Amino acid sequence: MQVAAAQPELVGDSRKAAELWHGAMARLSTRVSPHVLQTWFVPTRPVTLEGTALTLGVPSNFHADWLRDHYQDVLEAELRSEQPGCRLRFQVMPELEAPAAGGPASVTRADANRASTPPSAVRERLQTSFNPRYTLDGFVRGPSNQLAAAAADAITDKPGSLYNPLFVFGGVGLGKTHLLHAVGQAIQQRHPEWNVLYVSAEDFANDLIACLQNGRMENFRHRWRGLCDVLLLDDVHFLGSKERTQEEFFHVFNHHHQLGRQIVVTSDRFPHEMAGVEERLRNRLQWGLIVDIQPPELETRMAILGSKAAAMGVRLPDEVSHFLASHIRQNVRELEGALTRVVAASSVHGRVLNVDLCRTELRDLSLARARTPTCEEIQKHVCSLYNVNITEMRGPRRNRGITTPRHVAMYLCRKHTQASFPEIGAAFGGKDHTTVMASVRKIEELVRTDPAVTQAVEALDRILQA
Ligand code: ADP
Ligand code: MG
Repeated sequence: MQVAAAQPELVGDSRKAAELWHGAMARLSTRVSPHVLQTWFVPTRPVTLEGTALTLGVPSNFHADWLRDHYQDVLEAELRSEQPGCRLRFQVMPELEAPAAGGPASVTRADANRASTPPSAVRERLQTSFNPRYTLDGFVRGPSNQLAAAAADAITDKPGSLYNPLFVFGGVGLGKTHLLHAVGQAIQQRHPEWNVLYVSAEDFANDLIACLQNGRMENFRHRWRGLCDVLLLDDVHFLGSKERTQEEFFHVFNHHHQLGRQIVVTSDRFPHEMAGVEERLRNRLQWGLIVDIQPPELETRMAILGSKAAAMGVRLPDEVSHFLASHIRQNVRELEGALTRVVAASSVHGRVLNVDLCRTELRDLSLARARTPTCEEIQKHVCSLYNVNITEMRGPRRNRGITTPRHVAMYLCRKHTQASFPEIGAAFGGKDHTTVMASVRKIEELVRTDPAVTQAVEALDRILQA
C-alpha cells in the first residue's frame, strides 16, 4: 500500500509489480552487498506486471546491461518464489537519476567490470591486505579491552547497522590495528563479495598528496568513495593539522556513512583530544560508539603471552610468563617483542626457557622498567594536545590559552620524571621553583574538579606511559 502511495504514477497491475519487486528486494537485501544494493537496485522502479513479465525501470541502457549480465538470473529466481514463471524486462527511464556525485550516477563501465571481479583482486589493486595473525579469535580479551572487542563482534555480525562509526581509541601497542584487521577479515569472510577497505590515515594522506601532485584527484575520489562496503581507517589522529586531508576524509566519511556502510576508526586519543582536527570531523567521529582500550591487566598480559607462544609452537612456563608480564605493562607490542627475543635466545643457544634467561636477555633492552620521558618530550605532547607553541609554553606570558597547558606540563613532569622543582622550572625557561610547585598543586586540584583537565591529563598519561 505504502509503495503504491509513494508512486502514484503507477497504474493497473503496477501495484502488483511494486509489491512483487519490493518483496524480492527485501529478501535479497540480506544476501547482496549494501554497495550493490545501493548502486544497482535502489535506482530502479517497478513499472508494470503483464502476465508473468515484470517491467523494471532503470536509469540507462548501461544500467540495464549490467543488471542483465550480473543479476537477471538471481532476480528472476527471487521473483518466481512469489510469481511462478516471472520474467524481467528493462525499460530505460532517464528520470531515475541516481544519488549524488561519486554514487551510482557516476558509475562507469570500468566500475561495473571491477564490481564483478573477485573482491581479492580489488583489494590487491588498492594494496590493502590483512595480517592473517590479526583475527578476532587471536585477540585475547580482558577487562581492559572487553568493550572494544564486544563492539567489534557486534559490527561484524551486523555491519553498518549498529554503531556507525565505531571509534576505538587507546595507547600505542594495545591492539587497535589488530582489532581493525580482525573486523575486516571477519566481515570479508562472511561476505566474500564485499569490498572491505583498510587504510592507515598516513597512507590515505600520502595517496592524497600523490594524486594532488599528479593532478589525479578523480582517481583519488574514485578510489576512496567508490567500490567499498566497509571502511576501516587506522590512526585517524595522524590527520591532525593536515587540513586538506581532513577535508577529503570528511567527504569520504560522509559519502560512506550516508550509504549505510560500516566505518571503523582508530586513534590514540579521544576525538575531543585530537589537536588540529576540525570540529566538524571530530563531531562526525562521535556519531556512533566510542570505546577505549586500556593497558591490559596482569592476567590478560599473561594470557596474551600464552596465546602468542602457542602460535610460535612454544610452551611457556608460568614463571616466565609471569616474569615478562609483570615487567612489561604498558605495551603489548613490547611484550610480544620480549617474548620473541627470549624464545629465539633459548632456541639459538639451546638454553632452557626460564626466568634467568629472561633476565639476561632483557637487561640490555632495559625493558624491565618503563622508559622515563624527558621534560621536553612531555612539553611536546602537551603542546600537541592543546595545539600551542612550545616556545610560548616556556615563555613568560600568562594569557589564559597558555597557562593551563603550561601548568599541566609542569604537573606531568613532576609525575613522570625524577626532576626536582627547580629542574622543572629550568626546563620552562627558568621559572622559579615556587611557581612550579604552585602550578603542580593547581593541576592536582583541577584533576579532581574540572572534567576537561581530567580528560587531558588522562590522555597524556596514556601517551607518556605507552
Ligand atoms: P596498536 O595499533 O594499538 O598500536 P597493535 O594492534 O599493532 O597495536 O598491537 C601490537 C601487537 O600487540 C600486535 O602484534 C597485536 O597482535 C598484539 N596485541 C595487542 N593486544 C592484543 C590482544 N588483546 N590479544 C592479542 N594480541 C594483542
Ligand atoms: Mg596501530
